[in-house]
Parts: sequence; C-alpha cells; structure tokens
Amino acid sequence: MSRHTLPRPVNVEDLFPELRPWRKEAIRLHPRPGNPSLHDSSVGGPLLWPEGEPWPVCDGDHDDRDTQEPHEGEVYLVPVVQLHQDHAPDAPFPAGRDLLQVLWCPYDHGELHCPLPRVYWRTSHEVHRVRPTPSPHAEASERYIPDPCTLHPETVSEYPSGDLPEGLDDLLCVRFDQLEQDTGWSYQYHLSDAPGIKIGGYPGWTQDPVWPECGSCEQTMDHLLTVSTWEYDAASWHTWLPVEDRPGDGEEPWDHERARAAQNPAGLMLGDAGGLYVFECRSCPDRPTDHWFDCS
Ligand SMILES: [Zn+2]
Ligand SMILES: [Zn+2]
Repeated sequence: MSRHTLPRPVNVEDLFPELRPWRKEAIRLHPRPGNPSLHDSSVGGPLLWPEGEPWPVCDGDHDDRDTQEPHEGEVYLVPVVQLHQDHAPDAPFPAGRDLLQVLWCPYDHGELHCPLPRVYWRTSHEVHRVRPTPSPHAEASERYIPDPCTLHPETVSEYPSGDLPEGLDDLLCVRFDQLEQDTGWSYQYHLSDAPGIKIGGYPGWTQDPVWPECGSCEQTMDHLLTVSTWEYDAASWHTWLPVEDRPGDGEEPWDHERARAAQNPAGLMLGDAGGLYVFECRSCPDRPTDHWFDCS
C-alpha cells in the first residue's frame, strides 16, 4: 500500500510568497513494519551487498559509558536504509548508480554520542552473488538497530522551519502567529518541513541547525538523509500522518492501531527522541559525507 500526505490545509505560497524560493522537495520514506527482502527498498532490512566486498566494520572509538564490557570481535555496521532509484526517482543518485545503502555502527561515537553512519552508492546489476547481511553485534543497543520495514516513498514539498533565514523569520513571524490564531495551523509544526525518515528537503532538526562544511572544498554540504525517531508527534500528525494511516474523525492516533504503528515503525530511540542527519558534498566527485545528531 502506498502512502499519501494530504495537501497542506492552507496554500503556503499564496499566504507567504516570500517562501517560494525556499521550497525544496523531500522524499518521505514512510517505513512500516514488514519483511523486506534484500531486493526491496527498506529500513533495517537485508542489503544487496556484493559477496566480493567485506561487510563494513566500525573503525571508530566507542564510548565506554555505552558499553559495560569490551567488545568481542569486530562490530559490523547495521543496515539503516536501502533505496532503489526505481522507488525514488527524485533522490539524488549519482550518474550510473541506482542503489543507495546507508549503514551505521550501533554504538555511541564522539562528542555527539551517536551512531556513526556510512553511505554507499551502487549499481545494482553489478551485484551478482550476495553476501548475507550479518546479525548485529550481540551487545549493541536495540534502540540503534532499526527493525525491518518496507518503504513507501513519497515526494513532498517543504519550506524551512529551523532553516528559515533570520531576516525572513523576522519578516514572517507576525503573519505566522496571525495564521495560527485564525486557523489553528502552526507554520512550524503543520506547514513547513516533514517529520520522520526522509531523503533530501530540510533536515528534521530537533535543535538549531548545524550544517557541516565539506572537508575538501569547504562548501556547506547537502542534506542527504534524516533518520528521526518519530514519524509524527502530538502536533505534526494533523497534517503529516498519511491518509492511509489516519484515525477516524474525532479519534487521536494513539487510539488507532494503524496510526500508532506508524509513529515509530523502526523501533529506534535516538537520544531523547532525536534524529541523525547525514550530509554529503555533491560538488566533490567522491561525495564526502558527514553527519550531525541532536535530540530534545
Ligand atoms: Zn562504532
Ligand atoms: Zn566538497
């Protein structure tokens, strides 16, 4: 079953034409619990990984506070997202590549205390014999190991919220408040950028934006992937919970089985319900990546 976000309840660009140049397309992945095969697009599913390529292991340092005991053996990265170009033609695939794979090490790393992501772009027809996806490291925390989900990608338009340039924010905030008074719709929660796991668009920041700079060319990197803990919250579900998962009239999503299952389909808990944001530099040919993490 595909998933559809309703059109915004008001026309954002008619009300705020100043936002038009800031519109971006995001691909909501809409993960839902399932049993994806290695040929499917998935969150937390088995990967189409070439037999001839070793499974990636973590070469980072792990925080002692996260792990009571020293690790036995190598820590395999765990699958986070696998996405076929066929399922998301709007995603920023490099020329000649049609498969995106993002994995992470399911332990805390560095000053951000978060999983360490790694990005692979492949050509799927070059993968003949497949290396089985290994089980996650036995001591790794379940909150960092996504449960298998199938995907239902959908492209939506977004406008900046945390990323609203300061001058524009000052210009529009009174009109945002007026709109909320008149209609109940909050620009930030209901109209701007989509919650949940998504490709492109604006990062689903929980705190103030932090855009990494490319280490090679020093330009601000592009947002590739947001992995959020929640697909919606008590405010955002009103506009962002897809039609297919919505509760009946007068019901809250918490009263409704399908809506409830859609809130945290991958069973992740990133800090205190935060998100991990993966960036890449599309100006540099090898597409260097970086990441940021925040939570409430
Ligand atoms: Zn690690
Ligand atoms: Zn660069």
